[in-house]
Amino acid sequence: MMGDRNYRNIIQSAIGSIGRELEIDIDSKDIQTIHLQEVVQCLRRSYYDRVEPSEIERRGFNELLSGLLRKLEYGSEPKEFAIDDIKLKGQVDMLVDDSVLLFRSAIGELENPQANDILYLNACMWIYDIVDGVIVYITGDRKETTFSLTRNKKMFEEIIRRVRVLHDLLKEQKTPILEPSSDCSNCQYYERCFMKKKMSRQVSLLGILGAGKNSD
Ligand code: SF4
Repeated sequence: MMGDRNYRNIIQSAIGSIGRELEIDIDSKDIQTIHLQEVVQCLRRSYYDRVEPSEIERRGFNELLSGLLRKLEYGSEPKEFAIDDIKLKGQVDMLVDDSVLLFRSAIGELENPQANDILYLNACMWIYDIVDGVIVYITGDRKETTFSLTRNKKMFEEIIRRVRVLHDLLKEQKTPILEPSSDCSNCQYYERCFMKKKMSRQVSLLGILGAGKNSD
């Protein structure tokens, strides 16, 4: 019977399986290769992902957009950039007419692109040696917002610095410091960094006020 099955769990597990399939393949032992994805996000999260990983809970199919496009390789093969004896590896979602393109899902229309997406796109422009790049955000109701970017050296130097930091910390087996941001609330390591999440019961303020009136 339909009601006997928990379809939410089935869909969640399907999204999880596809997500695992689309994940960037990172060899956790190869610390001489650092992936661009690892340095545009919190370094502590990337460190845990290599050293003591926990599975991330994905919330919907639109989160898989970028991974699907990467997998289809619309003209974009992963590329490496040498930083001394470390390799920085990145991959764009699409290469079209000498521009790199990234596609990201968004909850609503954005005023500005997300900081880590700008860092990712800018670094790809250096890795692929291309001057122009575009980020396209697509919402669940198929609205899109597009931002274009010209590459910036200072921003790429910051990525190079973060590559060296992550490499050194992995080598020394030292956990990176916290990098608190809005990403923390959806991070699978939240409880390692901060505290146990408490599940609180929702209380309606109107309900409380109403109850107070009745007891007068
Ligand atoms: S909870 Fe925040 S600081 Fe901790 S690993 Fe995740 S993103 Fe980084």
